[in-house]
Amino acid sequence: MHSDKRIYHLIPSKNEENLPFLFESPHSGTFHPEDGDEHIASGKVFPGVDRFVDELFAFVPDMGAPLIHADFCRCYIDPNRALDDMRPEWFDAPWPHPLNPSEKSANGIGLIWPKKCGITHSPDDIQDRIDRYYRPYHQVIRDEIDRLHEQFGHVLHISCHSAPHKIMKPQINPRVNYTADIVISDQFGQTADARIGRALRNMFKNKGYKTMSNDPFQGDELIRAHGSPQNNRHSIQIEINRALYMDEAKIKRSAKKFSKLQNDLHEIFTQLHKAHPLT
Ligand SMILES: [Zn+2]
Repeated sequence: MHSDKRIYHLIPSKNEENLPFLFESPHSGTFHPEDGDEHIASGKVFPGVDRFVDELFAFVPDMGAPLIHADFCRCYIDPNRALDDMRPEWFDAPWPHPLNPSEKSANGIGLIWPKKCGITHSPDDIQDRIDRYYRPYHQVIRDEIDRLHEQFGHVLHISCHSAPHKIMKPQINPRVNYTADIVISDQFGQTADARIGRALRNMFKNKGYKTMSNDPFQGDELIRAHGSPQNNRHSIQIEINRALYMDEAKIKRSAKKFSKLQNDLHEIFTQLHKAHPLT
């Protein structure tokens, strides 16, 4: 399915055996509607884009699960932030609703990224982005979760991300002295049954990956909005160290590492399905 507005792609399962999984990549998009197609080509917002994550998870439809990936750049509007995660000085007129800026907004990476783009916005402009991009992205996730939940009675939503090697370090746990390959987050069990994260971490460990849990990332709006473990709707976030699959300086995939990681991800999520930690 191709969206003519370049909001997202939804690639349905291509396997006869469907799994109760939904994979979603909110930050791999590079389309900035106001700046033209390849805003990222200038490199000015590159570190925030989870480059190639949609391609890394391209095996998902063949495995039996849908894959959604945003086409728009998170610096245009970030679906992984709460709608009130903005600062008043970003606007040229008062925002008509209460604001609740997080430390991410303090760092310029809230719902929008005005510091990076160097401009202030009219509230109407941002409301338009919310209506045309943010809400449809969340809606398609909601619809797919509802559909899978109806079919299976339970569903696991996996929000897929990557982060620069240098920030994959613990901020909470002083006993951890390594840089993580993989961080699994569920907001300390609030967005998914804790057994799912535990099972996944063990599977990654068994393949030689260094893992962390909810540190340095706890997961943000996507798993918060869609995870409801008491209703058998589980949402987890996976952050992958970019050094595992790309040359971060050159913004290029490392072919061998990329395919090894992709094979491992495929095996791990197939194994997770067989382990049935949802039931
Ligand atoms: Zn991300």
